[in-house]
Amino acid sequence: MTLTIYTFPALAFLPRPEPVRPLPPPAKPARPSNRERRAAFRDHLFTVMREGPKPQPGRFTLFDLAPDSCRFPNGDDDIRYCGRPQRKGSSYCARCHAIAYVRSEPA
Ligand SMILES: [Zn+2]
Repeated sequence: MTLTIYTFPALAFLPRPEPVRPLPPPAKPARPSNRERRAAFRDHLFTVMREGPKPQPGRFTLFDLAPDSCRFPNGDDDIRYCGRPQRKGSSYCARCHAIAYVRSEPA
Protein backbone atom coordinates (compact mmCIF):
# COMPACT_ATOMS: atom_id res chain seq x y z
CA MET A 1 0.00 0.00 0.00
CA THR A 2 1.36 3.39 -0.94
CA LEU A 3 0.59 6.44 1.11
CA THR A 4 0.32 9.59 -0.93
CA ILE A 5 0.13 13.01 0.72
CA TYR A 6 -1.40 15.75 -1.32
CA THR A 7 -0.53 19.28 -0.35
CA PHE A 8 -1.92 22.47 -1.69
CA PRO A 9 0.94 24.25 -3.52
CA ALA A 10 0.27 27.65 -1.89
CA LEU A 11 0.88 26.21 1.59
CA ALA A 12 4.55 25.82 0.76
CA PHE A 13 5.00 29.62 0.78
CA LEU A 14 3.32 30.25 4.10
CA PRO A 15 5.59 30.83 7.10
CA ARG A 16 6.09 27.77 9.16
CA PRO A 17 4.28 27.83 12.47
CA GLU A 18 6.28 28.53 15.57
CA PRO A 19 7.20 25.43 17.50
CA VAL A 20 5.08 24.99 20.56
CA ARG A 21 7.10 25.80 23.65
CA PRO A 22 6.14 24.47 27.04
CA LEU A 23 4.65 27.01 29.39
CA PRO A 24 6.97 28.30 32.10
CA PRO A 25 6.23 26.87 35.53
CA PRO A 26 3.77 28.92 37.52
CA ALA A 27 5.42 31.61 39.57
CA LYS A 28 5.83 30.65 43.20
CA PRO A 29 4.37 33.09 45.68
CA ALA A 30 7.08 35.34 47.02
CA ARG A 31 8.57 33.84 50.19
CA PRO A 32 8.87 36.42 52.93
CA SER A 33 12.39 37.17 54.01
CA ASN A 34 13.58 36.26 57.50
CA ARG A 35 13.42 39.92 58.44
CA GLU A 36 9.76 40.09 57.36
CA ARG A 37 8.96 36.84 59.16
CA ARG A 38 10.60 38.10 62.36
CA ALA A 39 8.72 41.40 62.09
CA ALA A 40 5.43 39.53 61.56
CA PHE A 41 6.09 37.32 64.57
CA ARG A 42 7.01 40.35 66.67
CA ASP A 43 3.77 42.09 65.66
CA HIS A 44 1.82 38.95 66.45
CA LEU A 45 3.51 38.62 69.80
CA PHE A 46 2.83 42.24 70.70
CA THR A 47 -0.81 41.74 69.75
CA VAL A 48 -1.01 38.67 71.97
CA MET A 49 0.68 40.48 74.83
CA ARG A 50 -1.60 43.52 74.42
CA GLU A 51 -4.90 41.74 73.85
CA GLY A 52 -4.35 38.24 75.19
CA PRO A 53 -5.07 36.99 78.67
CA LYS A 54 -3.10 38.67 81.40
CA PRO A 55 -0.46 36.62 83.17
CA GLN A 56 -1.46 35.12 86.44
CA PRO A 57 1.83 34.82 88.27
CA GLY A 58 2.13 32.42 91.11
CA ARG A 59 -0.39 29.90 89.84
CA PHE A 60 1.48 26.64 89.49
CA THR A 61 3.97 24.85 91.67
CA LEU A 62 6.74 22.80 90.14
CA PHE A 63 4.70 19.66 90.72
CA ASP A 64 1.69 21.06 88.85
CA LEU A 65 3.63 21.50 85.61
CA ALA A 66 3.21 19.20 82.63
CA PRO A 67 6.27 18.46 80.46
CA ASP A 68 5.15 21.14 77.98
CA SER A 69 4.21 23.79 80.55
CA CYS A 70 5.98 27.14 80.67
CA ARG A 71 8.63 27.16 83.38
CA PHE A 72 8.97 30.90 83.81
CA PRO A 73 9.26 31.48 87.57
CA ASN A 74 7.49 34.15 89.55
CA GLY A 75 7.91 35.09 93.17
CA ASP A 76 10.80 35.34 95.60
CA ASP A 77 10.16 32.97 98.49
CA ASP A 78 7.19 30.99 97.22
CA ILE A 79 8.17 30.40 93.61
CA ARG A 80 5.32 29.57 91.25
CA TYR A 81 5.44 29.01 87.51
CA CYS A 82 3.56 30.42 84.53
CA GLY A 83 2.23 27.04 83.31
CA ARG A 84 1.01 28.12 79.86
CA PRO A 85 1.80 25.86 76.89
CA GLN A 86 5.41 26.21 75.82
CA ARG A 87 6.44 27.94 72.66
CA LYS A 88 8.03 25.47 70.21
CA GLY A 89 11.74 25.16 70.95
CA SER A 90 11.56 27.07 74.23
CA SER A 91 11.01 26.28 77.89
CA TYR A 92 8.68 29.27 78.07
CA CYS A 93 5.41 30.35 76.50
CA ALA A 94 5.57 33.10 73.87
CA ARG A 95 4.93 35.84 76.42
CA CYS A 96 7.57 34.65 78.90
CA HIS A 97 10.01 33.91 76.06
CA ALA A 98 9.71 37.56 75.00
CA ILE A 99 10.42 38.63 78.58
CA ALA A 100 13.35 36.24 79.06
CA TYR A 101 15.12 36.78 75.75
CA VAL A 102 15.74 40.33 74.62
CA ARG A 103 17.61 40.92 71.39
CA SER A 104 20.65 43.07 71.93
CA GLU A 105 21.03 46.12 69.75
CA PRO A 106 24.05 46.13 67.43
CA ALA A 107 26.80 48.42 68.72
ZN1 LIG B 1 4.95 31.62 80.41
